[in-house]
Amino acid sequence: MPYKNIRIVDLAIIGAGPGGVASAIEAKLAGIDNIVVIEKAATHNDMIHKFYKKGKRVDKDWMGIKFEFEGNVTFEECPKEQYLDDMEHKIQNAGIADKFIYGHEIIRVEKLDNGLFDIIIGHDNVEEGHENLLARNVILSVGRMGKPNKPKYKFPKEIKPRLNFNLSKVQNGERVMVVGGGDTAGEYAYGLVDLGMDCEVTLNYRKPTITRMNPLNTEMTTKYLEEGKLLNKMGVDVESVEATEAGTVKVNFTDGTTGEYDRVVYALGGTTPKDILVNSGIKTGEWDVPVYDEKTMETNVEGLYTIGDVVTDQGSIALAFNHANFAVTDVASKLPAQQKAAS
Ligand SMILES: Cc1cc2nc3c(=O)[nH]c(=O)nc-3n(C[C@H](O)[C@H](O)[C@H](O)COP(=O)(O)OP(=O)(O)OC[C@H]3O[C@@H](n4cnc5c(N)ncnc54)[C@H](O)[C@@H]3O)c2cc1C
Repeated sequence: MPYKNIRIVDLAIIGAGPGGVASAIEAKLAGIDNIVVIEKAATHNDMIHKFYKKGKRVDKDWMGIKFEFEGNVTFEECPKEQYLDDMEHKIQNAGIADKFIYGHEIIRVEKLDNGLFDIIIGHDNVEEGHENLLARNVILSVGRMGKPNKPKYKFPKEIKPRLNFNLSKVQNGERVMVVGGGDTAGEYAYGLVDLGMDCEVTLNYRKPTITRMNPLNTEMTTKYLEEGKLLNKMGVDVESVEATEAGTVKVNFTDGTTGEYDRVVYALGGTTPKDILVNSGIKTGEWDVPVYDEKTMETNVEGLYTIGDVVTDQGSIALAFNHANFAVTDVASKLPAQQKAAS
């Protein structure tokens, strides 16, 4: 295997909202010690910190939907601040605070031929000597609030519909500029050429060369740039965008040059929950909801579970807690056989 430092855990939990925290506590109670919880924010329950207003009462029967707790993790209705304190105490009391890794965003998980999941961390979090993390089982509890990264400059109102974060709005024959230097930017750029929509596709990246794509995307993107199938606008950043009289997008670059495009597609990183699910091989149905077993929360990928808001259109804390119990119970029942097979 091409890795230097490898750590194998029995369970990797992605996201430390109510679903992720409850999964970690349930795992401890089920005797699963070798776990890790990876959270992109700086704290657990970040969504509650950020989106609940000060003093908000945390309801058990949220939005009028009645829930009974089915697992070991519960809460009493109380103000937001107390809820967060209680969660911190629950983590401390379970002795699992050291299992949490904050400030790390996961892009996807990939099931390897040996049955283990490779946990792929975002480029910005990969450090020298970084430990490669493999997991026998994974619970994705990433909520619904993920957002793609946006540039710092303003999007004028008139052209907002032409400034996108994926290819879904691209029309036949458009002049499209893709902005970014990672895998998604490469895949969007050469992928759009291959769609045969007669689009004129430009790739813009602030660096002059491709350094962040995987070997396949580097090869494809370089080839398409060399063959002129992709127009090259690399080595320069975008300073601002404005509307032309025709309603198209005028891009002002930092070197004083300008360009006119029908559409600009930004691929600057930052994952939406759907990206992680789809990129991890999970089948999704209507409204991007993953297909999963309602009793175990396991997806079509064996050993890969999804819980909480990401699997429901009307989620709640109690529901996420219950899901955590279902998923961990299933993991605990399968783990002895997995460990035996590995030894
Ligand atoms: C304003 C508001 C008020 C609410 N009030 C109530 C209430 O009173 N009672 C109630 O029961 N419910 C309430 N809810 C709903 C409740 O907050 C959610 O159902 C619950 O938080 C879902 O938990 P979760 O773990 O599925 O997702 P989240 O709480 O969204 O947690 C997901 C976590 O995953 C992390 N994450 C996402 N992507 C990645 C990644 N790629 N890598 C690493 N980490 C990642 C996020 O940073 C986040 O911490 C409210 C929701 C809102 C918005």
